[in-house]
Amino acid sequence: MERADVVVVGCGILGTSVAYHLAKRQAGLRVLVLEKEKSPCTGSTPLSAGGIRAQFSTEVNIRLSTSAIAFYETMSDALECHFDFEQHGYLLVTTEEETAARFKANVELQRSLGVPVELLEPAAIKARWPHLETSDLLLGTFSGTDGYADPYEATMGFWQATRRMPNKGGVEFRFATPVTGIHHEDGRVTGVSTERGQITAPWVIDCAGPWLAEVGELAGLDLQAEPVRRCLWNTEPFDLIKDKIPLTIDMDTGFYTRSESGGLMLGLANTKEPPGFNPILDDEWLEVVIERALLRIPCLEHAEVNRGWAGHYSITRDHLPILGEVPWLKGFLSCGGFSGHGFMHAPPAGLLMAEIVCEGEATTIDISALGIERFRGGGALTPEANVI
Ligand SMILES: Cc1cc2nc3c(=O)[nH]c(=O)nc-3n(C[C@H](O)[C@H](O)[C@H](O)COP(=O)(O)OP(=O)(O)OC[C@H]3O[C@@H](n4cnc5c(N)ncnc54)[C@H](O)[C@@H]3O)c2cc1C
Repeated sequence: MERADVVVVGCGILGTSVAYHLAKRQAGLRVLVLEKEKSPCTGSTPLSAGGIRAQFSTEVNIRLSTSAIAFYETMSDALECHFDFEQHGYLLVTTEEETAARFKANVELQRSLGVPVELLEPAAIKARWPHLETSDLLLGTFSGTDGYADPYEATMGFWQATRRMPNKGGVEFRFATPVTGIHHEDGRVTGVSTERGQITAPWVIDCAGPWLAEVGELAGLDLQAEPVRRCLWNTEPFDLIKDKIPLTIDMDTGFYTRSESGGLMLGLANTKEPPGFNPILDDEWLEVVIERALLRIPCLEHAEVNRGWAGHYSITRDHLPILGEVPWLKGFLSCGGFSGHGFMHAPPAGLLMAEIVCEGEATTIDISALGIERFRGGGALTPEANVI
């Protein structure tokens, strides 16, 4: 029977980051990345808005982000790949007292963790970004080291850097190979089944994105993350706004936007969206998106929407990822449930998975609060509040 040291399920941004970090940490480790589709990066990764930000409300997300930002700032040189991290910042705005109070508390926490975040009054926001309607705003927060990038480029960067390592770092990427079963004995993972046969392995890392729970079920696990459709649209290029804009989130309405291909990308979560794998673009929802977009950016009245697409978040109850070994199934690592932040958090998540496999524990960031066990036993959760 074929043997591997580690099987990674899924070849999106997380699967490639995990493979890269494993190969870097312990050259020669036999790592098999199994992907059900015929090529890398066909799942939720290429459908992402590509946002990268440290402006979160929970310490663990801020720490994951500061690590990710440092990685992405040097990725093109370090991995010798084409990767353009456009650090035009993230701007969060609100019209509500309660959210403004939360912004202030978040900023204090973010600054204590080294994030260069500013609190901005409406007049200061208007002076910097005159395209925004600010008359109803109470407060904004801005961090200029946040920004956006192309998740496909990042995935290719990890993939190709791994393939260029001597002997490919011990990693093999295998496509058109769905994992159909996960085997275990006495509470320990022993390997996986594929349509082409079985592979024995002491470690299996679930990087299946929106399919995280589906893959977990193969091992009899209830990984509590649900796939939920999210849609995005792009406008035609226009000259209504001169410079590239920060990824801007209207926290009260949920509308968000950033520069894309000479126009803007427009997004807004439908909070009534039921869980599931509906792949169809929600054309009716676009009307709501435009209505909310016009409230914040009136000049969009002269823009045309030219395309849209639907992808899937993998959402947990507290909007935090499920990261680490499942205590009741040794050797099974969950690396998903990022709730809309998997692209940005892929570099540290890959590193942390490699630390667990190679050294027995995650050391660079304390992720003890991100284990699946937090959903057992009815303890209070600390949800991430800055979600879109
Ligand atoms: C509209 C939208 C906007 C987003 N915006 C952002 C953003 O701004 N910033 C951000 O950080 N994140 C964002 N996200 C989330 C981000 O896209 C995901 O968190 C991230 O791409 C997850 O990467 P992944 O590698 O885990 O999953 P995927 O890219 O989905 O890869 C999982 C892979 O697993 C494979 N697979 C599944 N089951 C099996 C099996 N049984 N056997 C073998 N292979 C299997 C799939 O084919 C797939 O290729 C957004 C998502 C969407 C949909």
